Amino acid sequence: MADGFLPRTAADASPLIDGFGRTIRYLRLSVTDRCDFRCVYCMSEDVSFVPRDEVLTLEEMDRVCSAFVALGVRKLRLTGGEPLIRRGVMTLVRALGRHLAAGTLDELTVTTNGSQLARHAAELAAAGVRRVNVSLDTLDPVRFRTITRWGRLERVLEGIAAARAAGLAVKINCVALKGVNEDEFDRLIGWCGEQGCDLTLIEVMPLGDIDGAGGFSRAAQFLPLSAVRADLARRWSLEPLGFSSGGPARWVRVGETGGRLGFITPLSEKFCEACNRVRLTATGSLALCLGRSEAVELRPLVRGYPGDDGPLLAGLRRAIAHKPDAHGFGTAACPALAAAGRLMNLTGG
Ligand code: SAM
Repeated sequence: MADGFLPRTAADASPLIDGFGRTIRYLRLSVTDRCDFRCVYCMSEDVSFVPRDEVLTLEEMDRVCSAFVALGVRKLRLTGGEPLIRRGVMTLVRALGRHLAAGTLDELTVTTNGSQLARHAAELAAAGVRRVNVSLDTLDPVRFRTITRWGRLERVLEGIAAARAAGLAVKINCVALKGVNEDEFDRLIGWCGEQGCDLTLIEVMPLGDIDGAGGFSRAAQFLPLSAVRADLARRWSLEPLGFSSGGPARWVRVGETGGRLGFITPLSEKFCEACNRVRLTATGSLALCLGRSEAVELRPLVRGYPGDDGPLLAGLRRAIAHKPDAHGFGTAACPALAAAGRLMNLTGG
């Protein structure tokens, strides 16, 4: 295979089922913990990153993803950190695209801050990616700079335009922040309608730099989306949709724009009973739930057995059995998460 990526063995066909009967079909991979933005709710400005030799190589990431595909995972999302700043990332995207071509994977997607999207959009589409999620919390350039600290809105908008031009569907992810962007949801709904993009609003989670610098604090900024939805319903006709993107959003159709609007409510309305996801950190740690500290280290199974996927496949099956029933946000498990150093950029949002 091109670029040194190896063909991988088929596993036994039975899917990955956790201890609560949920079938795992969706893997999110944090391609890198590094990012070219420093969003206030995600990372502190002086965040330290993991040593490079602890980060899986692109070949190792391909190997773990392919093992998951062999065990029935149908959807892969590359995230981070910022996935599109990892050198050579397109090699990984093209390699994973072989599973789409083989029909063993339904979807390969990317979550990005959009800063490098103009450069990569056409290549992503050529590799079989059909949609991307772009994080965009505001359409105001000054506010954008305040939230992302290092980002430029203009580049992200160029990236979104390039993605649309390349034929990629774009979903905008907006973290709802009390007192920061709550006055902009109407504008974002209208703009997404014009652009032909879906929009999801996301509740801010107590992860990362919880008492963030610069006056940002998760607790003070938390905005329950039930209240936001009720408020939006005064001005927009929101028709519930049965539609699922395979993720946790609950969707409505916005009558006035024809666009879709999703609500991701990890805190105000849990969706753990339908969870079909696990996350692989950039260092090869399998995070069984974003909101719990349980994780299984896969790197020893990757590096310890070159050329033999047997231990890795067996390790994945063992690991999945330990997936917790529900996240622990808002409970005593929260401090444990912080103690485990579980940052959004390492785990992958
Ligand atoms: N760099 C990429 C991006 O910006 O989309 C991918 C990684 S980023 C960690 C993935 C998503 O996590 C983004 O949509 C971001 O807004 C969200 N996120 C980060 N920290 C969060 C938090 N504390 N609560 C809720 N969402 C968060």
